Amino acid sequence: MDTSSPFVINVSELRQGAIDVELDEAPSHLDLEVEDAQFVGRVTGRLSWRWVSDRVVALGRLRATAQMQCVRCLRELRQAVEVEARLVYSDEPSPEEKVVDLDVDDEGVTHYQGEWIDAREDVRAFLLLELPDIPLCSETCKGLCPRCGADLNDGPCDCAEAKPDDSPEWKKQLSQIREEL
Ligand SMILES: [Zn+2]
Ligand SMILES: [Zn+2]
Repeated sequence: MDTSSPFVINVSELRQGAIDVELDEAPSHLDLEVEDAQFVGRVTGRLSWRWVSDRVVALGRLRATAQMQCVRCLRELRQAVEVEARLVYSDEPSPEEKVVDLDVDDEGVTHYQGEWIDAREDVRAFLLLELPDIPLCSETCKGLCPRCGADLNDGPCDCAEAKPDDSPEWKKQLSQIREEL
């Protein structure tokens, strides 16, 4: 375990009092390379660690910036990601864990072993959960024209004027013959 990471905390040290951690981390430190989003800039914020009864709790706020693609116009957009983090750890295995091998029980309490807690996986999950499922550059994004592919945010394309040609077949053929004459 990388004990120099600001997301890794020593539980014995914490017994002497709360520990506030200022965060300013590269996204790669949290393994934030995912398919649909690219985290740019730093992950910043603060986590305040303390013992609450027999649980270790970290409360704080995290900020990051994700670069994503608008689903309508396909332009790159930057999305600020801000989360209120609430992480709870216990060294007691939860009852569920004895049945199925899960690290997290129903209350969102993560089980830890030994003297160290590594919060990176939980922080990563918090940030990824905050990403929009349907990223939009703007609520009013007009998207691309389905016919010519023009970005309609730049203004209407020529297709906007053209009406679908629903004239009967003989008229179409007639106008074609006219053109050829
Ligand atoms: Zn868009
Ligand atoms: Zn068009």
